[in-house]
Amino acid sequence: MMAKLGRELKAKGVQVIDLSLGEPDFKTPQHIIEAATEAMNQGYTKYPPIAGFPELKQAIITKLKRDNNLDYAPEEIMVSTGAKQVLANAILSIINPGDEAIIPTPFWVTYASLVSLAEGKNVFVPCSISDNFKITPERLEAAVTDKTRLFIFSSPCNPTGAVYSKEELKALADVFARYPDIVIISDEIYEYINYGGRHESIAQFPGLRDRVVVVNGFSKGFAMTGWRLGYMAAPAELVKACDKLQSQFTSGANSIAQRAAITALQADLTPSLDMVRAFKERKEFIIPALQAIEGVRISEPAGAFYAFPDISSFFGRSNGSVTVNNADDMAMYLLHTAHVIGVSGAAFGDEQCIRFSFAASMDTLKEGARRIREALEALR
Ligand code: PLP
Repeated sequence: MMAKLGRELKAKGVQVIDLSLGEPDFKTPQHIIEAATEAMNQGYTKYPPIAGFPELKQAIITKLKRDNNLDYAPEEIMVSTGAKQVLANAILSIINPGDEAIIPTPFWVTYASLVSLAEGKNVFVPCSISDNFKITPERLEAAVTDKTRLFIFSSPCNPTGAVYSKEELKALADVFARYPDIVIISDEIYEYINYGGRHESIAQFPGLRDRVVVVNGFSKGFAMTGWRLGYMAAPAELVKACDKLQSQFTSGANSIAQRAAITALQADLTPSLDMVRAFKERKEFIIPALQAIEGVRISEPAGAFYAFPDISSFFGRSNGSVTVNNADDMAMYLLHTAHVIGVSGAAFGDEQCIRFSFAASMDTLKEGARRIREALEALR
């Protein structure tokens, strides 16, 4: 909705600062584009195997070993049309009507929508800025019931940028060890967008690996959002169920994108690392700039490319004509008065915060920060 309103303003000639988008503002690296062209010339223009080309599965297996020290077999890998379809396949395969899925908030909204689509029940565990937006083992255990079937989280997290350390994941794994029927979906799509800490996967803990669904893809780390390609690493039985769904939904992911993805995984990661360096510089500008505004509380993101400030201290205040009572109001206020587009935290199950993407040029961010500051300072 914000995107639509933003487009309408832009069409009227207003200089809009759009900080709403969840995608890198970089072009796909040239060697990946060339690999796609070559694939088309080589004739990779026909139906691919439903779960993905064996060569791509092998490249994913090699990547999971290289980056994550995880061991997988080809029948435990499946390639889909974006991490979003990976999540859809997994959630629809796992959740039966009435099953409960524990989701720490804030969360990426697709998780809850897919659980609802599968007629499951979302059990939200609120996490806030004071716990760096991470679920604790105690709060996780308190949410478990005999109906709990699934736990879904992302690390690095969209929208908070929180990254779980190995110790924090181990503490959660210890809880799951007591509940063998719970499957864990670990969304690691922002793996490469990490500002210092090592990326850790909850699949690394022995005993847990066989009920973890690792979700990853090419959209964020390789600036390939439009190619629509993601993958899962999961127990073979689950992959088999997802294969059945996928064979009816799509017949498999785009063959050309799959061939190019082999190159993405095997080639030098320098373009991805350069992109992350740029995100880091922007983070180092935007976080202090927002923090400097009186009344804004912000937790430093350790990964992904979002600032997620808590703006609840402004609720109840007015600029004389508009009163801001919640996060939705704040998003509308910033859109109409500052022409800055953010996304209300309510879209992620958090009523206190607003999300600004810093996958935007430094000039855009500077102008955005200036306008946000002016608009917030006008609220009394
Ligand atoms: N998971 C998270 C946390 C995301 O933010 C996104 C995209 O915004 C996705 C998954 C989906 O990625 P894809 O483009 O591969 O479908």
